[in-house]
Amino acid sequence: MRKYNNEVDNNPFVYARNIRLPKEKQLQSFILHDRFYNNKRLAKIKLVDSMSCLMCHETEDNDHLFFKCTRATEAWDTVSKEIGCTIDIDLIKNGTSDKWLNNIISLTKLILSQNRDKPINQSMLLLKIKK
Ligand SMILES: [Zn+2]
Repeated sequence: MRKYNNEVDNNPFVYARNIRLPKEKQLQSFILHDRFYNNKRLAKIKLVDSMSCLMCHETEDNDHLFFKCTRATEAWDTVSKEIGCTIDIDLIKNGTSDKWLNNIISLTKLILSQNRDKPINQSMLLLKIKK
């Protein structure tokens, strides 16, 4: 198992700056500033009819979309096994000072946000994180 060493003062805003690619960086910024448009938020401003997750029909807030939905837990399990590092909810939410791991986490979040209406294709996910 690869070990990561998180800094004592976990600061997700600092770690968001370490994200390499612009789309991932922007997504993480939206999540951290509570500006990400999940279905709960879109339903409140009447841009979608339902605040439900398109896959399991639970309320789709950020926690559901990125950690709690079965498709998210499956994606994190796949990524964790591939890289040999346990990715827990704290790591997903706050990021880490380990830039390599931080970029893999932000990429997985982007894939989860872009594929909200379908199960995550695990082999596609692995191909993307290996790039
Ligand atoms: Zn769901």
